[in-house]
Amino acid sequence: MYGFDEIIGNGQIIKNLKSAMHNSRVSHAYILSGQEGSGKKLIAKVFAKALECENGIGSACGKCSSCKTFDSDNNPDVFYVKPTKTKALGADDIREQVLKRVDIKQYKYRYKIFIIENADKMTVAAQNVFLKTLEEPPRYAVFLLLAENPELFLPTVLSRCVSFKIRPLGSEQVEEYMVKNKGVLREEASFLAEYASGSIGRAIKLSEDEEFGTMREDITNRLFALRDTDLATALMWAKEMEKYKENPEMLDIVYMWYRDVLAAKKLEDEKYIIQKDKLQRIFAQAKKETLIGLSKTLSAVWQAKRQLWQNGNFVLTIEIMLMKIKES
Ligand SMILES: [Zn+2]
Repeated sequence: MYGFDEIIGNGQIIKNLKSAMHNSRVSHAYILSGQEGSGKKLIAKVFAKALECENGIGSACGKCSSCKTFDSDNNPDVFYVKPTKTKALGADDIREQVLKRVDIKQYKYRYKIFIIENADKMTVAAQNVFLKTLEEPPRYAVFLLLAENPELFLPTVLSRCVSFKIRPLGSEQVEEYMVKNKGVLREEASFLAEYASGSIGRAIKLSEDEEFGTMREDITNRLFALRDTDLATALMWAKEMEKYKENPEMLDIVYMWYRDVLAAKKLEDEKYIIQKDKLQRIFAQAKKETLIGLSKTLSAVWQAKRQLWQNGNFVLTIEIMLMKIKES
């Protein structure tokens, strides 16, 4: 479930972590930073599992009792630290979830490991509380701090941690991963990889999100038909699309559609098209559009996106957008 084979890319980081384990140079604290979905949690989990494995440090065999309990999130020596009251990790969270536990020796395995998610959201007070432990950690303690913005750590915290920056993967790597490990069809994998901008976590999430798939089909079908639909009917779609109101991907799908039509029109080469599963329709639509019209359309979609961010009325915003697209 969690093994080094699951991790793609970031070879240097993995090499460093492995060599620290094999040369008994494991540090007490690591910061793994990277954008959402970049794989920092996966790397932290594999590292934690490997640190505890009973079949030798570094192996994450998946068969020993440590690995098995780890896979079911029940390893008695691995703790996930999360905020309880607000989105930020407060001083009380650190006291309750870290300080109270860290002085007691590990229960069974090699280390006592704390995986702190969104560690960059620790308040300054929380970081100061945590700092005391970081300054004199018990020898069995390992802290893995996951962060999107490592610059939010106090310099005193940063200086006591080994930091790794996790890089997003290239689209090709994400595509390969989705095909090989998730059994996704090539065309869909290529679309998801591009759509998720190289974030593997996001690509996986989208592939498992059933609403995303149906919504995308529905919206792209409507957009394909929009030119030949009369205005009154098109305006009714705004109401029908209200069911997607809470889904932030909705306007990205619209944007992506016209972005591809523009690419088809301008570059006339399918290698520039993100939605490889809709090539025929995209090229057919490109024939009906003008370059100026498409750039107007894309800015109408942006305006709608901004309106919705600012809590604009959903149906009205979509009506205006559809009207502008028809006029473009
Ligand atoms: Zn094991």
